[in-house]
Amino acid sequence: MKLPHFILVLIILQTLHHLPAILAVKYVAINDAKNYPGGKRFENEIGIPYTLKIMEEINNYIYKIFQQKNESDRKPVGVATVFIRQYNGAEAITYGETVNVSALYLQGYQGNLKWEYTSLLYHELTHVFQWNGEGQAPIGLVEGMADYMILVSNYYPKGFASRGMGQRWDQGYDFTARFLEYCEGLKPGFVAALNKKMRYNFSENFFVELLGKPVAQLWSEYKAKYGNIK
Ligand SMILES: [Zn+2]
Repeated sequence: MKLPHFILVLIILQTLHHLPAILAVKYVAINDAKNYPGGKRFENEIGIPYTLKIMEEINNYIYKIFQQKNESDRKPVGVATVFIRQYNGAEAITYGETVNVSALYLQGYQGNLKWEYTSLLYHELTHVFQWNGEGQAPIGLVEGMADYMILVSNYYPKGFASRGMGQRWDQGYDFTARFLEYCEGLKPGFVAALNKKMRYNFSENFFVELLGKPVAQLWSEYKAKYGNIK
């Protein structure tokens, strides 16, 4: 069958029109806990429209901090989804492109819930967009990068990870964000460069390559600078 010329033109125009949409990340937010107190509190104090707005903002912020101007530098993400769900366990947990936020956590949180939720999404969405050395990077470092995003965004609660405290990520990651901040101070763009190196694998030697010193030495210098508070 031969299609009339104007229909072909329409099809081509439509295809062209949809091309950019294929590359851009889509955002979905679903409250699956509407019938629970936490889900109701979410509707009252946060809401789906705010979630969708902040997801895009956070996504762009992550690209900025990771200095990923080009599509080819970014982790391919089709649809980033935030679910509010009724479950017991971690306040939030991310699998692939999907973030689950606990309605029970939202229910019980004391304080500015919207702020806390935004902070939580900075962390969880970093997991969606960061490289993790195809699973080879230490979990504490991957978590520290996500906390670093909270730190630089300024959406962090008072008392968040003081400087100079804690151990390296093999012994817990509470203060890894502050160590990354220290490394960033030594060489602006360090965190972006480290994330970039973590695309296909991981090696502690990345620290030597970027800062000229082994990570153990950087840690002791960091702790010497900010005090060995335990
Ligand atoms: Zn995490």
